[in-house]
Amino acid sequence: MALMTPEQFEDSLKLLKPRIFMDGKRVESIFDNPNTRTVVEANKASYRWALDPETSHIMTAFSPLINETVNRYTYVSQSVDDLIKKAEAGTFTSENLGTCIYRCVGYDCFHSLWSTTWEMDRELGTSCHPRFLEYLKMVQTKDLSVAGALTEPRGPRSDRALEWNDPFLSVKVVEKNDKGIIVKGAKINISGAFASHELVVLPQSNHSANEADYAVAFATPPDAEGITFVCQYTPYSAERELAGDIEELGNPLYGQRETSLIIFDNVFVPWERVFHCGEYQYSGKFVTRFARTHRMTCGGTCKVGFMNQIIGSSKLIQEYKGLQEVPHINEELAEMVALRETCRSCGLAAAYKGSEEPVGSGVFLPDELMGNVSKLNVCNAFWRVMALAGDIGGGLIVTLPSLKELNNPETKAYMEQFYSFGGDEPAENVMKVHKHLQNWTAGLHGVGTWHGAGPVQAQKIMLQRVINYDHEKDLVKKTLNLKPSTSEAEPARKSKK
Ligand SMILES: Cc1cc2nc3c(=O)[nH]c(=O)nc-3n(C[C@H](O)[C@H](O)[C@H](O)COP(=O)(O)OP(=O)(O)OC[C@H]3O[C@@H](n4cnc5c(N)ncnc54)[C@H](O)[C@@H]3O)c2cc1C
Repeated sequence: MALMTPEQFEDSLKLLKPRIFMDGKRVESIFDNPNTRTVVEANKASYRWALDPETSHIMTAFSPLINETVNRYTYVSQSVDDLIKKAEAGTFTSENLGTCIYRCVGYDCFHSLWSTTWEMDRELGTSCHPRFLEYLKMVQTKDLSVAGALTEPRGPRSDRALEWNDPFLSVKVVEKNDKGIIVKGAKINISGAFASHELVVLPQSNHSANEADYAVAFATPPDAEGITFVCQYTPYSAERELAGDIEELGNPLYGQRETSLIIFDNVFVPWERVFHCGEYQYSGKFVTRFARTHRMTCGGTCKVGFMNQIIGSSKLIQEYKGLQEVPHINEELAEMVALRETCRSCGLAAAYKGSEEPVGSGVFLPDELMGNVSKLNVCNAFWRVMALAGDIGGGLIVTLPSLKELNNPETKAYMEQFYSFGGDEPAENVMKVHKHLQNWTAGLHGVGTWHGAGPVQAQKIMLQRVINYDHEKDLVKKTLNLKPSTSEAEPARKSKK
């Protein structure tokens, strides 16, 4: 089996020396920094689950590519059944972590790379697909964690890349030689890459012939010369740094969804790791096929897991407060469940209606329409679920004293008296659950969920492209026995002549 133990995963990451900054300071060790540590912990869990007999059916798959069992996050779906398992894994990881499984974006990039390099080779005679397969074999055999990077700083959105004052607001090839390429530019908002073994880079948008230098996809280790990570820093980062004990925090072990700006300052990439270079007509396909798989994951699977966390806390608070028989609270909980199931069913429908893309390539992608619908739904459903949880949780979600008061001899008794709601639940539990809901409803997750995998307008644009109303029009024509219009009748008249 090509599976590492969690300890081997951590040891293997220690061999890498990425250049990382956070809060104006160098991060010397991702294992010791309390915020970067959360990413290590989240990815580590995926190694544990793959070896655990209880969860290995979710977290592993048999790869015909290397004839071995591999971690699901290094696998590429080859059937509808694989897509369903991919969806189930997305929910499982997110409901257990309460944050990203940081191998997810790389995993979705693999689907796009497999599909698009296969098509490119067939149509252009390039040799990118075998190169990608060799890379994927290496990733599977070594059981690597791979992050994925598409989003870029970009110049004015109304202008094309060549019109920007700074040509490096998008990743660009600046040199090609017999050994490989040199790239310059940056990617933004990239999840967990500093604690991954590898980073896969895809273009962010389609490109025209004169933008061929931006048409590039490749893989690199995160500590390649010229790569710098500048990590996000939020009030939650500061809170974690100041916490005496992680148990004081809303998501103790796994924390927030950690991202960074990644700068590529003349980074060399050898040809065997370059999967797209100059074939500008295909850049858009790399992006849309990535989005097709990632929107199912973000919309219909991982946010379902996040909602389970929110629903769990809301239900506990209902019980702590003795609100079990109150109709509007029960309605609010039922509404959360209905929203969750709507999102889950769209994600599963995207998987069930998935197909081989392109036919003959061997890779299965979720249904485009349902994947986009699932992400579109979740953008709004997630805010609604947070609002309902806020109503049930009450003001305490945002007015809660520090959990450190439970260890303060001068205030401990007050906490126990006033925060157990006069019931038999320890105040510590009540406070922790409110802290948990603070993490969900008063933090980073609303905007994070809206934008991760693209904001609403991106899904609406994609829906406009794929929706075809012929079926619906035909139904009405049949129902009403409508006569053919002049233009429809024309071909028939012509053929009679
Ligand atoms: C928690 C989190 C994790 C993420 N992880 C990753 C990751 O691992 N890898 C990765 O590649 N990306 C990642 N992202 C990035 C994510 O995909 C982007 O945030 C998302 O695509 C939106 O892009 P943006 O943030 O640049 O927002 P913008 O594109 O600036 O969007 C802001 C608004 O401007 C509108 N807009 C933007 N451009 C145009 C235009 N040309 N015309 C009209 N309207 C426009 C948008 O529709 C939106 O309404 C992550 C984001 C988050 C929040």
